[in-house]
Amino acid sequence: MNFDIARKRMVETQIVARGVKDRRVIDAMLKVPRHLFVQEAMAAQAYNDTSLPIGEKQTISQPYTVAVMSELLELKGVERVLEIGTGSGYQAAVLSCLARRVYTVERIPSLASRARKLFDTLGLTNISMKIDDGTIGWESEAGFDAIIVTAGAPEVPTALVEQLVVGGCLVIPVGDQDEQVLYRIRKVEDGTVVQEKSIPCRFVKLIGRNGWSGEQ
Ligand code: SAH
Repeated sequence: MNFDIARKRMVETQIVARGVKDRRVIDAMLKVPRHLFVQEAMAAQAYNDTSLPIGEKQTISQPYTVAVMSELLELKGVERVLEIGTGSGYQAAVLSCLARRVYTVERIPSLASRARKLFDTLGLTNISMKIDDGTIGWESEAGFDAIIVTAGAPEVPTALVEQLVVGGCLVIPVGDQDEQVLYRIRKVEDGTVVQEKSIPCRFVKLIGRNGWSGEQ
């Protein structure tokens, strides 16, 4: 299987054909080797139009979802971005091509350590990572120009809005456990936000102090 050809086809048919226009997002998705972020036995499916299991009952998001969320952040290359839910590390790797520095938080240690190894192998030196409950954000590194949550939240964690700079935006799936809607929430001044709805989506649960309770 030629992964470069599969990736190019993925970008053309799943991302550009569905209306993603941000050239930097398209280039990032052409560049990041998604097949390295899935389980080895699933490498041949890495460029399919679907999410895939990554172990620990978690998933790597569908490529289109990664592209839409990345585009919604409107990154220019100078930003500090916080991601909650590192998972495979794929979304963080895409963001590392789009922003100055990426901070990513994962609650499951085995996923975090696999992702960290991949970042090292690929030389993605602008990603900082920690194992923690990301629903409380990353206080010591706030404020962020953009925040992306890649797990489904019952509501918007206020800590995340607090850790945004004024003018910054948060992209987050909010809804029940079976279905969510992607929201973009812009902080227009302290205490005031403007929110827009984007596409429907289905993520694994955001588990933590300001998310869902429970193990999975
Ligand atoms: N962005 C990931 C998608 C991973 S799925 C990728 O590109 O592969 C969502 C991830 O969020 C899971 O790995 C899950 O363990 C993690 N997660 C859920 N709740 C979390 C929390 N409170 N803090 C940090 N990570 C969390």
